[in-house]
Amino acid sequence: MYKAGFVNIFGKPNAGKSTLLNALLGEKLAITSSKVQTTRHRIKGFIHGADYQIILSDTPGIIDPTYKLHTKMMQAVKNSLEDADIAILLIDARKEVEESHTIFSALRLKVPAIVVLNKIDAVKPPQIEQKKLFFSAQKYASQVLTISALKQMHLEELIKSILLFLPESQPFYPTDELTDMPTRFFVSELIREQLYNLLDQEMPYQTTVLVREFTEKTTLTKIVADIIVQRESQKGIVLGERGSMIKKIGSAARVEIEKFLDRKVFLELFVKARPNWRDNDLYLKEYGY
Ligand code: GDP
Ligand code: MG
Repeated sequence: MYKAGFVNIFGKPNAGKSTLLNALLGEKLAITSSKVQTTRHRIKGFIHGADYQIILSDTPGIIDPTYKLHTKMMQAVKNSLEDADIAILLIDARKEVEESHTIFSALRLKVPAIVVLNKIDAVKPPQIEQKKLFFSAQKYASQVLTISALKQMHLEELIKSILLFLPESQPFYPTDELTDMPTRFFVSELIREQLYNLLDQEMPYQTTVLVREFTEKTTLTKIVADIIVQRESQKGIVLGERGSMIKKIGSAARVEIEKFLDRKVFLELFVKARPNWRDNDLYLKEYGY
């Protein structure tokens, strides 16, 4: 009997959704950051077992507290979660659980939901136990697990729990593939990650990255990418004094891309201003949104 299905990881910004996706896949597919809402795209990652295929997706941090009881928003969240066979409701175990609980119960999900308390490496056991008991008593929780995505604790149990609820089915994707997104996409994400790491405050949210060239040479891969900013005046911030910032971004990104591709990389970065790219449909399309 072969099982296959879709699992959606859902939770507030910073709960650890991207970290969990990466930990389960054993590859760095989703960029993670201590800054909220770094995830802009939905990435599907595949876990292949001898008799199962789990298709995981990392949803953008769509719960905005100010909208939490907004019915339209709730309906959109509900719909996207019910597109999958199983929902993982991920919670930062260090935080208060009230808000997550309010949202989860209002969703009235029809699909099985596994409540997962994350970051147990950073919480005292009695507190974890108390929160686990709290969620175990809720109707929407098919199961409650405690994990650390970062320290890779109890991930086996999570897989086992997913398999309990996964439907019988043929595989949906070839069993030698890891994701539905092209390599170029991950390269641009790894560059974008460094923008979050190295630039201050609001700047990263106003930028995007476009890989223009990706060529496999005999000894290395040549990558040329544009960092797109909203205004001419922002170019200087990304470039830094005498190019010092772009240099830092480039070398940090190159290290990560080399790890990801398992190959030497020559990375060339340019900074370009595309006025208000975030509001321009044509630009958004070009940048893959
Ligand atoms: P997302 O917004 O839900 O995708 O959250 P991320 O995966 O980007 O993680 C947000 C922050 O929480 C990052 O700084 C992670 O390193 C951190 N984090 C994620 N999982 C854990 C965990 O199990 N333990 C601890 N201590 N930190 C974690
Ligand atoms: Mg994320």
